[in-house]
Amino acid sequence: MAENNGGWCGRGFKHRTFPKHSPLICYNKPASAQVDKTLYDDKRFEALTGEIVETVVVPKRSARTWTMQAGDLCRITVSEGSQVGDVNFWNLDNTKERFYSGKTRQLHSTHLKVYDRLWSNLPYLRPMATFVYDSLAAYGIDEDGGSLHDVIGTRCDDYTYKLITGNDRVGSCHSSLTKAVIEERGLKEEDVHDVWNIFMCTGFTRDTQQYFCKPSPARKGDYIEFVADMNLLVALSACPQGDVSITVGEEVPDDVCHPLKVEVFRKKQ
Ligand SMILES: [Zn+2]
Repeated sequence: MAENNGGWCGRGFKHRTFPKHSPLICYNKPASAQVDKTLYDDKRFEALTGEIVETVVVPKRSARTWTMQAGDLCRITVSEGSQVGDVNFWNLDNTKERFYSGKTRQLHSTHLKVYDRLWSNLPYLRPMATFVYDSLAAYGIDEDGGSLHDVIGTRCDDYTYKLITGNDRVGSCHSSLTKAVIEERGLKEEDVHDVWNIFMCTGFTRDTQQYFCKPSPARKGDYIEFVADMNLLVALSACPQGDVSITVGEEVPDDVCHPLKVEVFRKKQ
């Protein structure tokens, strides 16, 4: 028996002490995770001064898909009222290659900032897209450690809803993304994966390290942009939690839910 484990029934208990160390950043932005900002500013300019090749309105409480060519820019706009969105990415030419939120989180941080990249799963591990503009960048990291556009992972789903409430339901980002990829792209539920949580304000409590969210600070007219680093299939859910001002498990009024607008820009050939 180890010396400091408390002994039999706690008799002889001694507090165990551990040596203190400063945190070391595990993955301190390898070269391929750091983009040439001028190059991406140029890509952004070329695409925005080119033409809009696709416009998609994702109705509230539902999801839609679209495709992009490498180099295209996608702008996602909070077009009517505060609203969060969940995004999935696949390599258009091989949908086994898809977004890997966990590794993206390790390579960058829990919440993506402009010039961070979105990485694909193993064994591929390639940049799929690069974040190039955020109208909400000034939000930063708030006093509770909350920030926007997380890659903490997962998405709202009806299985967890049942775990929390005991009730059956169909009405989540997971079910919306599933419906969209089946109907529009012939994929399966299993192809839906952990998301990029755009416009959502989230973090972990300092005392218990539990996942928290706050109402989205996004307002009508806010938008983000990313440039595709490969040919992409993209899916976006306008979350049925709307602006996330209502606790999970409670009824979400329709007036806190809004659509999201998607535009794909391509540089002049
Ligand atoms: Zn959701």
